[in-house]
Amino acid sequence: MKEFMTMCEACNPGEMEFLQAVSEVVESVQPVLDRHPEYRKAKILERMVEPERIIICRVPWVDDKGEVQINRGYRIQINGAIGPYKGGFRFHPSVNMSILKFLAFEQQFKNALTTLPMGGAKGGSNFDPKGKSDNEVMKFCQSFMMEIWRHIGPDTDVPAGDIGVGRREIGYMFGMYKKLKNEFTGVLTGKGREWGGSLIRPEATGYGAVYFASEMLGTRNETMEGKICLVSGSGNVAQFTVEKILELGGKVVTLSDSSGYIYDESGITREKLDYVMQLKNVERGRIKEYADKYRDAVYTPIDPGQDGNPLWNHKAHCAFPSATQNEINGKDASNLVKNGVYVVSEGANMPTTPEGVEIFVDKKVLYGPGKAANAGGVSVSGLEMTQNSMRMSWSREEVDAHLQKIMKSIHRACVDAAMEYGTPGNYVNGANIAGFVKIAEAMLAQGIV
Ligand code: NDP
Repeated sequence: MKEFMTMCEACNPGEMEFLQAVSEVVESVQPVLDRHPEYRKAKILERMVEPERIIICRVPWVDDKGEVQINRGYRIQINGAIGPYKGGFRFHPSVNMSILKFLAFEQQFKNALTTLPMGGAKGGSNFDPKGKSDNEVMKFCQSFMMEIWRHIGPDTDVPAGDIGVGRREIGYMFGMYKKLKNEFTGVLTGKGREWGGSLIRPEATGYGAVYFASEMLGTRNETMEGKICLVSGSGNVAQFTVEKILELGGKVVTLSDSSGYIYDESGITREKLDYVMQLKNVERGRIKEYADKYRDAVYTPIDPGQDGNPLWNHKAHCAFPSATQNEINGKDASNLVKNGVYVVSEGANMPTTPEGVEIFVDKKVLYGPGKAANAGGVSVSGLEMTQNSMRMSWSREEVDAHLQKIMKSIHRACVDAAMEYGTPGNYVNGANIAGFVKIAEAMLAQGIV
């Protein structure tokens, strides 16, 4: 493992997030490689860390003042062994090669776990939609698509949303793709309902993370009923995580954004959640305003440089990190355990640092890593692709039933793989191994390509 990571570090210098994601998988799959020398011989792992293709492009656009702006765009097609490349676009100023490579790397295993035929990819730009007018967002999306359209397609690569990319951005990109290609196809998922989108797609990641938590609780004959939950973020994933927790009888006491968090001891009700959805999705305001409206709630600013996040230092049973990578460090993980949290279901991708993961695993927390717990989003994206190919749309109940079935099967796959390789109850190993084996088998069958 040491030798492998040294090689990886030499090939990907300074790419901290990518190396972090690789090192966790490499550690989990050691026993698989020992049992399957054919994977070693075919250099499966070595090939998995090397993207099949990386596209980097200039994205010029003109802002409302008439000034020329330039951003950098990316698409990373990491592994197409089990289906067309699939993974979201992220628009955020922090986007760089390391972050997108870690996300693409994770995505290939997540997609394998869903049971649907999808390869792994990720993309995006350092463009920041925050504070931009609709017109500026449209100009950027159109310019980005003017390059990316030639690299994607319904049977090649089907992007979706992620941080900073929701229905509005997908709409502008889809419009430009359609114009350039003169084709109305399911080239992007997360589309609006009226133009090919699937019901439950916006809800899917959050709902899925709560379904996964329910499955983990089920192993101890418990349910979400009465559970006090900490949720971070206040975007797409966080909002629908809260919605599903409320439906299942739990109570949510926190939400956040990149400036700070609110603690509402009395619980975020349906009415308060509707307010958050209006605030975040329509008015594009800050979570601080929640505490201005609901005076019992306490707002605490978060300094990005501080050690640890006070959001994770409240009494609760469950935690749903739903904002961004590395938002729970070792100190936060210890605080969570100390405050009684014994279920962590990751809506975000890689929100826990390696020190944090070690604490959760050591303390026997029911810890669902992102690549399993947040796979509901890409699963319903897969279902959107199916509906687009069939030129039909399924009801809300049908899609939700598929989603629940998929989350159950991902949970089962993690439990079985962890058991088979001698670490029962370890969902980190379970998810990494189950995803890895599926892709490895496809790569072996397809030869050295
Ligand atoms: P959104 O853009 O809708 O919301 C992101 C939320 O996280 C916002 O509240 C944002 O606050 C906060 N946030 C973003 N960056 C930071 C940061 N550096 N520090 C603190 N808070 C931050 O994104 P999503 O809800 O779609 O995505 C959230 C997470 O879920 C990401 O990790 C994403 O990769 C993952 N995910 C998303 C899926 C999906 O279907 N959308 C699928 C699977 C995983 P602010 O507004 O201040 O930026």
